[in-house]
Amino acid sequence: MSHRGRFAPSPTGRLHFGSLVAALGSWLSARAADGAWIVRMEDLDHEREVPGAADDILRTLEAFGLASDEPVMRQSQRTDVYAEALALLERNGHAYRCSCSRSDLEPFGGLHPATCVAAPDARHPAWRLRVGNARIAFDDALQGPQAQELATEVGDFVVWRSDGACAYQLAVVVDDAAQRITDVVRGADLLDSTPRQILLQRMLGYPQPRHAHLPLVLGADGRKLSKHEAALAVDAADPLPALRAALRFLGQRPAPGDSVDAVLDRALRAFDPRAIPRAHELFAAARNDSALR
Ligand SMILES: [Zn+2]
Repeated sequence: MSHRGRFAPSPTGRLHFGSLVAALGSWLSARAADGAWIVRMEDLDHEREVPGAADDILRTLEAFGLASDEPVMRQSQRTDVYAEALALLERNGHAYRCSCSRSDLEPFGGLHPATCVAAPDARHPAWRLRVGNARIAFDDALQGPQAQELATEVGDFVVWRSDGACAYQLAVVVDDAAQRITDVVRGADLLDSTPRQILLQRMLGYPQPRHAHLPLVLGADGRKLSKHEAALAVDAADPLPALRAALRFLGQRPAPGDSVDAVLDRALRAFDPRAIPRAHELFAAARNDSALR
């Protein structure tokens, strides 16, 4: 099967340097394999969504020469598809209604045990996935072999929220299958989510994509770059400094060039996936100060 990669931002703010690194890493991987690169907008969380952010992110990506090969999928329009997947999980005994609150789960370290703590409350239940004794192992192309015991490390987790929205873990798995994604290249903050997604893929009979989790970008203070740090948004009006900084962060040597297309084209021809740092997180500021201002 030919390579199909994706970049899936949430519209919670402007595109920042960490997201640019993830977009560029997945784009280079897809293009180097002559594959497709697809943008998906993960806009399920209405409370965190910033009006206008989705369009702003897409415009910024385009300024960086990164345009989706297929129409941008928006998760907010796919509730029916997610509901079908939830119904299948329920029919097969994998998902159950749950009315436990956060405080109910405190004695269990915040993890939901195999049976509910709270009495059923039919008004606004969430749905959880029964993880049983699943131990999920997978090989990450950058982070190496990974394994997780779901019952002790994650617990039965929410696949449908009590507010009526599909939870991230289920939506992403349904969308990756619908878009026939073969290669998930994204930030290492999602490494911990991957076993949950693989379990869902198995339960739903979906193929399992390959994974490569890129190092997280740390700011000068050692914290992960967050979209809320608006000062670190990349500048669509002057993309070249941030583009070069993102290439350097990915271990690539940006060639000279006076346009985004020229720099991207040369980066693609010289792309060496083995040069991507195999770290969980890396400081960016020391190397890319000017690009982050
Ligand atoms: Zn429960």
